[in-house]
Amino acid sequence: MSRAITTWISGPVLRAASEGAFLLREAVVVGEDRLLGEVIRVAREEITVQVYEDTSGLRPGDPVEGSGRLLSIRLGPGILGNIFDGLLRPIGVDGATAESCPETEMAADAAWVRPGMREAPAGRFRFAPTVAVGDRVAAGTVLGEVGPEGAEPTEQGLRQRCLVPPDAAPGEIVELADAGTAAEDAAVCTVRTDDGGEYDVALSHRWPVRLPRPVAKRLPTDEPMLTGQRILDCLFPIARGGTASIPGGFGTGKTVLLETIAKWCDADVIVYVGCGERGNELAGLLAEFLELEDPRTGRPLLDRTVVIANTSNMPVAAREASIYTGITVAEYFRDQGLDVALMADSTSRWAEALREVSGRLGELPGEGGYPAYLSSRLADFYERAARVETLAGDKGSVSVLGAVSPPSGDFSEPVTNHTRRYVGCLWALDVRRAQARFYPAIHPLTSYSDSAQGLARWWHSEGCTRWETLRRRFLTLLEDEARLERMARIIGRDAMPARQRLTLLCAQLINQAFLRQSAFSEIDRYATPQRQAVMMRLIGSFIDAGDKLLEEGVPPERINEAPIFRALMRMGEEIPEGDWERFSELDRELTATVRRLREEPAEVQV
Ligand code: ADP
Ligand code: MG
Repeated sequence: MSRAITTWISGPVLRAASEGAFLLREAVVVGEDRLLGEVIRVAREEITVQVYEDTSGLRPGDPVEGSGRLLSIRLGPGILGNIFDGLLRPIGVDGATAESCPETEMAADAAWVRPGMREAPAGRFRFAPTVAVGDRVAAGTVLGEVGPEGAEPTEQGLRQRCLVPPDAAPGEIVELADAGTAAEDAAVCTVRTDDGGEYDVALSHRWPVRLPRPVAKRLPTDEPMLTGQRILDCLFPIARGGTASIPGGFGTGKTVLLETIAKWCDADVIVYVGCGERGNELAGLLAEFLELEDPRTGRPLLDRTVVIANTSNMPVAAREASIYTGITVAEYFRDQGLDVALMADSTSRWAEALREVSGRLGELPGEGGYPAYLSSRLADFYERAARVETLAGDKGSVSVLGAVSPPSGDFSEPVTNHTRRYVGCLWALDVRRAQARFYPAIHPLTSYSDSAQGLARWWHSEGCTRWETLRRRFLTLLEDEARLERMARIIGRDAMPARQRLTLLCAQLINQAFLRQSAFSEIDRYATPQRQAVMMRLIGSFIDAGDKLLEEGVPPERINEAPIFRALMRMGEEIPEGDWERFSELDRELTATVRRLREEPAEVQV
């Protein structure tokens, strides 16, 4: 292996005089403690290394040892249900994972990895082959199903698979383990390649974090990834394999929104990257995930979640890597034919890590002090989101949701601005809405989704044939509201024509009954597409009824005073999933109210 001698150290970055050839992006170990690092620049006789651990003990003269391979992580069944640092080394935070991660000797109270620790110890898993000796295999071929050791099939949780690594050569199986348990890193299959070589496949394999995993092809994104949040699923939907950015100032609800989506969205696997945010928030999230029951399996939600944590007190370079580690893990599950959702909170902290390392390198700073390659790094990250046909011929997806925390809520700053160019959905959090405790504080006029048109067909197939019409109608009413509100402030609401007062009333209903949805309400924290569709239709009927009554001279205030209006305003908080009868009641009451108001003599207008 190549060696080098450290000559200069600045924070997480060091330079070393090389005595051999290093690869760009090669993993290295530094100093006596064998700290993990990565070569980020190669010159003739000098390498620059970014170190993923505390460098305060390093001195010039300390050796740097090459590994001969790119910075990579070991991907295997043991990842699920655990918490790692930015390089997939297991950590424990406040003991939250002590139980689910018993094989690691990490002190339960330490939010740190041991210096020089490479990766999680290999666990043991049950392997049931689905191929046979003599079968031909190629990169990505599924060799069998993998489950936790000793678990009954009924309590297995998520089905996992053992794959031929995506960079392996095609060949024929010459040896194969019987069904039984195996260590994650032990060979379960031997493949003889066409040129006579042989290689082993284990339940886990290594993959370089900065290299997208290959797929057979990208598929169109025409299925929604349901979040359970009405404002998202109905107004600004994200497709499976899509991307969304959530910019918002401090305290506008980015973390709560990402966590709510993590809990309730319909992805098979959640990869949650806590990037540079407060450690106690992540500890809280973990505790909650352990407690929460996965509606599909009845097991703790944590069982199908991977948490990658690089809180603000951890080394800055590992934070830079955590985004790539997260998306590589997501791709690994995608390659097993699963739908994966990756949440990153916050990409701004990641960009700051990039800026700090760049500054140490003495690179010319660009906008906001960020390096000029900020934009292309963001593009590289978001482009790894996709719905794909896997090498094995299955369908899988990675959807990416990234929070952005612009300093002082200014959306024109570089990270927000560049991110906007690469994402399909923008869910812009609004300070004024948050201050009014209107959650989720997503602003309906500054947010957008490029997938709405493509997803209308899915809603049709679910029986919601007016989805697209109602969506447009809602958005138009909300736009009109913004304009009319300004006017109302000047001339007063009472002086406005009845048509405009009706518009304000309808917009109020959309906002309060549909868009507002508390993450902490037992009944309303999540809404199935069926419940969303029913509510959307009811509000649509109300809007139609208002129009009709207006034509007949009934002023909007009469509708406002009717009990049905109050009932509709409260339906999200009061009518739980599956209680379709109560929604039907509202529908009947609306019809009855319209009949009554039409029959009563119109009020004399003064
Ligand atoms: P950020 O991550 O943007 O700084 P948080 O997600 O921590 O902000 O939200 C701040 C506070 O706002 C939360 O502690 C919670 O009280 C409130 N909040 C945010 N989103 C919601 C929501 N969807 N439902 C109810 N309360 C919310
Ligand atoms: Mg936050």
